[in-house]
Amino acid sequence: VELKQDNNPLPALLKHLGKLPGVGPRSARRIALHLLKKKESVLYPLLTALDNAAQQIQTCAECGNLDTYNPCPVCTDAKRQTQQLCVVADVADLWALERSSSFRGLYHVLGGTLSAMDGVTPDQLRIDTLLERVVRHKTDEVILALNATVDGQTTAHYIAEKLAPLQIKTTRLAFGIPLGGELDYLDEGTVSTALAARQLMV
Ligand SMILES: [Zn+2]
Repeated sequence: VELKQDNNPLPALLKHLGKLPGVGPRSARRIALHLLKKKESVLYPLLTALDNAAQQIQTCAECGNLDTYNPCPVCTDAKRQTQQLCVVADVADLWALERSSSFRGLYHVLGGTLSAMDGVTPDQLRIDTLLERVVRHKTDEVILALNATVDGQTTAHYIAEKLAPLQIKTTRLAFGIPLGGELDYLDEGTVSTALAARQLMV
């Protein structure tokens, strides 16, 4: 009996696993085998977790955070200082700052950074909504918590230029780490220090 390839779900599984960040074809094969060998203990719980996440987690229309609530708990927390706005590239960076417990203002998730290499242009990032929020919240300070990479700093300068006519204090994190450092990889203490020692952009 010849195996009917059309009905074999394995190629699709490998294809989709291979699209995950940091997962190449070889890792995709290893993960697929692990899942299929451990259906009860790994595959089914993962299916449930993925389904729940897909059903319940949404993007906060205000700041771009991911949460079961929209607007998210950060945006609706009355104790947060609404006049400080911290701009991050990704939700992972927001999480890094929240883990450090050193920031009590609001966030704005851009959804990436400008990149000539990857063809990311300003209209693909949430920059218009950032400017709109800054005006609406009467923001005192915008903190650009972008990675110390070329793309991160290009994005920081682009946003600083957009904010200049609004005459809002614009600062950026002071990274005590080599160029190329990413926020998500820093420990809580380093994130706190980078925030506390933030520098005015000119
Ligand atoms: Zn939010």
